[in-house]
Amino acid sequence: MTTREEALKRITELTAILRENSRRYYVDNAPTMSDQEYDFLMHELEELEAAYPEFAFPDSPTRTVGSDLDAPVGENAEQSASSDFVKRPHRYPMLSLSNTYSIGEVEEFAARADRSLTESFSYCCELKFDGTAICLTYRDGKLVQALTRGDGVQGDDVTVNALRISNIPRTLHGDYPREFEIRGEVLMPYASFEALNRERADEGDAPFANPRNAASGSLKLTDPDEVSRRGLWCTLYHIPAQSVPFATHDEALRKAASWGLPVSDNRSICKDIDGIREFINHWDTARKELPYATDGIVIKINELSAQRALGYTAKSPRWAVAYKFKAEQACTELLSIDYQVGRTGAVTPVANLDPVQLGGTVVKRATLVNADQMEALDIRVGDFVYVEKGGEIIPKITGVNLARRPAGSVRPVFPEKCPDCGTPLQREEGEAKWFCPNADGCPTQIKSRILHFLGRRAMNVLAGEATVEQFYSAGLVRTPADLYDINKYQLLSLEGWQERSAQRFLDSLTATRSVPFERVLFALGIRFVGETTARDIARHFGSMEAIEQASEEQLLEVAEVGAVIARSVYQYLQDPRHREEIERLRAAGLQFSAAAPAQAASDALSGKTIVISGNFSVSRDAMKELIVSHGGKCTSGVTGNTSFLLAGTKPGPEKLAKCSKLGIPVIGEEEFRRMIPQDAAATVEETQLSLF
Ligand code: NAD
Repeated sequence: MTTREEALKRITELTAILRENSRRYYVDNAPTMSDQEYDFLMHELEELEAAYPEFAFPDSPTRTVGSDLDAPVGENAEQSASSDFVKRPHRYPMLSLSNTYSIGEVEEFAARADRSLTESFSYCCELKFDGTAICLTYRDGKLVQALTRGDGVQGDDVTVNALRISNIPRTLHGDYPREFEIRGEVLMPYASFEALNRERADEGDAPFANPRNAASGSLKLTDPDEVSRRGLWCTLYHIPAQSVPFATHDEALRKAASWGLPVSDNRSICKDIDGIREFINHWDTARKELPYATDGIVIKINELSAQRALGYTAKSPRWAVAYKFKAEQACTELLSIDYQVGRTGAVTPVANLDPVQLGGTVVKRATLVNADQMEALDIRVGDFVYVEKGGEIIPKITGVNLARRPAGSVRPVFPEKCPDCGTPLQREEGEAKWFCPNADGCPTQIKSRILHFLGRRAMNVLAGEATVEQFYSAGLVRTPADLYDINKYQLLSLEGWQERSAQRFLDSLTATRSVPFERVLFALGIRFVGETTARDIARHFGSMEAIEQASEEQLLEVAEVGAVIARSVYQYLQDPRHREEIERLRAAGLQFSAAAPAQAASDALSGKTIVISGNFSVSRDAMKELIVSHGGKCTSGVTGNTSFLLAGTKPGPEKLAKCSKLGIPVIGEEEFRRMIPQDAAATVEETQLSLF
């Protein structure tokens, strides 16, 4: 039996988890939790709020629509993706849909509609397209506005990009109304998605997790040429009833199709729950043949008068429900178990599997989460296990087929010592994970911390595991601050490094001076301080100095920071080694204050307004940071004020054409690099090198 205090604690906890994951999903386009897991946590919160209505706060995630209106900061947030679109209000709120994974709950939905409605009605069953929502406005047969869902009340005006989606008509034909809104989904078909990810891999950019994230990221690009290259596709499924009066939803869609709008034929009018069930069963299998992603079925009451009678909750219409398909599952053999040490010392058991096809990819490894989960599954090597995958999420083992357990199998023993450095593992009270306490001596932890520091979401330096391994083995780096002491001579003495690669690495490090404080704070890798928490703490205190001086109680004043995070930050900063590390990073020129302007590497580009296009030897993010760190300004579109277009390989043809029309110079990467001074220390070393 849950007490009121326990309920409040769990509600607070669930709210924080859901908010963090909502941001990762909608803003960063890089979720780290499966949709199903997210939905289950949301349902748990709904149930707790129903039992304890006094704790059902108006801004609860159960009552608000997940918002994509924020600055993109995550792995998949592209430099050229912007939060600077003009925000415009929706005429009618753009809401979510209540969802379920159970056919029983769809039956309850139908029964509720039966009870509430006096008139006879039918259901319109449709596919639930897995993309990002869009609201189009047509006036006099012309597309005049396209808004994203945003927070449901206002959205980003992405009209310029919508005009680049090939199947969104600019003009309509037939008997269209003078002005109306129509809503739907922008999708990235699998073929475009795979091509895009191949391209990103070639450029060294993180691949998009799944087509939904890719569609949503692409719709917010600031370069419409790039949007057209991405091969997006649109399907429309809703005309707000207030916008144009029709008798049924289906009639509205048929009419929309007759005006030339893209509406899917894959829908069916069902009289009762049997019809709905049939539609669900058919598409559960048939959807796998579609060229785009769907994640369920939407069941809508077809008659618009009945829809009006049922109305809306704060978050979703009462006249519709989404039935979501469960994550795909496969069964395969568990070949062995590895124990992996993470950045914070946590040891995670990882299953090596007999490779199996799942959701379009081959799965070879899956997480076993922790010792408790292994015990709960009673898993053994040689077992046939069930694997599930949601989006890009690391596959998870969800069960064991005991009927196929080989004779004589034994329970695996969780190691007592760190598999890397041999230090006895510890497990703190209340913790599910075993930890290696040798934070400063365990090679895996040291390397992971440096990798985390360099990562795209943190300092965004183009260097991967192999480079960090090389630096570590050569004894060059033990902490992130050591990176800033590396000189070109040292780099050139390592295998495989050449003048160009060394200079690029040093340039990327120079560019980290313009990384904002909140990302620097995240890069430090303080336990429990993810991107959102780092941002909240950085914004609350404004500077590292203020955080260093804060007590645990003062840290608790930051919204969303609870006792565990406050203690972790406080203890981290009490450690003199961490203080020294911060001092060294400060001396290297990193930003430790929200307001502090970036310490410029030079003013070589001062007064220059630069547009970048195409692919470079480093990521576009790094290129942009390099420009800023040398005093330049980056803008997205070529105008009369543009100083020059910095063109990599495959620059946008329209940008090139505009430059030639306006007489704006176009320069390549090599020429650009000659405009900025080489790293001072490196130049000295280079001179020494040439003397040998
Ligand atoms: P949703 O995606 O579950 O359903 C509503 C949306 O479905 C609508 O806004 C519309 O865009 C879309 N849709 C597709 N086909 C449709 C059709 N035929 N008719 C009407 N609408 C259609 O809801 P949401 O509010 O966009 O997102 C919430 C969901 O997102 C959660 O349930 C969860 O699954 C997922 N999510 C996941 C994470 C995570 O960390 N994995 C985080 C936040 C949200």
